[in-house]
Amino acid sequence: MAIQDCMDCHASLAMTLNSTSDYIGRFAPSPTGPLHAGSLVAALASWLDARAHDGRWLVRIEDVDRTRCLPGMDQIILQQLAACGLHSDQPPRYQSRRSAHYQQALGRLITSGHAYPCGCSRRDIELALQRSGQIKARHGELIYPGTCRAGLQGRLARAWRFRTADQSLVHWQDRRLGAQVQDVAVEVGDFILKRADGCFAYQLAVVVDDADQGITDVVRGEDLADNTARQMLLQRALGVTTPRYLHTPLVLGANGEKLSKQNGARAMDTRQPLAALNQAAAVLGLTPQQVAADALAHWLAQWKCLYNRAP
Ligand code: GLU
Repeated sequence: MAIQDCMDCHASLAMTLNSTSDYIGRFAPSPTGPLHAGSLVAALASWLDARAHDGRWLVRIEDVDRTRCLPGMDQIILQQLAACGLHSDQPPRYQSRRSAHYQQALGRLITSGHAYPCGCSRRDIELALQRSGQIKARHGELIYPGTCRAGLQGRLARAWRFRTADQSLVHWQDRRLGAQVQDVAVEVGDFILKRADGCFAYQLAVVVDDADQGITDVVRGEDLADNTARQMLLQRALGVTTPRYLHTPLVLGANGEKLSKQNGARAMDTRQPLAALNQAAAVLGLTPQQVAADALAHWLAQWKCLYNRAP
């Protein structure tokens, strides 16, 4: 729907939007670098969607993998968000303080047979795949051949994996991308829940926290859409509710790849928040604004028309 049609749909939308105040959304940056045009899209979109539904918007610092995080980056990100007028409705949650919860969830998955210990190194996996004549990789990750699924055979447990065997065909409806499907067993394999270095995997941490915080709607970049099926399998195994998902368009760098620190994304300048917000808004199909004080309100009205939440 075009922005000019917005006025026509306001009346009918008002009822839909007002009746959904159970909404809890979140923005979950990893403090590996400052916000840039790409990450600001997810921040702005998740904030607008929460406000459009009279909901709450939470910030969660995803610092579960300490080896990738930069000290003090959480504060820089929070300052950048504040400069844009995006304030968390609760004090930010830090994943680095939640290991006991992830361990508890892993324990439940072990008890229910959904998780098993794995003694394979990367080299073991490569050799097993070579022996079977099939090197299967996806996004640079080898697809685990299932060596330890039936037991460790005398080896020491290094990591914990999710057993994808049955019912791994996942269908879901993305609010922007439409109908999605992934057979996790075939396309991803038994994925890691806890790594050999003791670090909990993003997949487990994000599912535990989304459930614990009562997140009803996940709004994040399209590059993360591919994780959704894995997260839904985990949600089913843990018996928690699956949120709705909306994956936002990506900002592409000059090389046509997702904008990242590696391909030249510049950190958002907190002295020029409107410029950064206008860039993010354009990616979401929202019109540029001249006055910082009014920008979010204008985009909120536009958002309600463009991204209404399907029942
Ligand atoms: N922490 C992830 C990132 O910064 C986002 C996770 C999510 O939104 O599910 O890419």
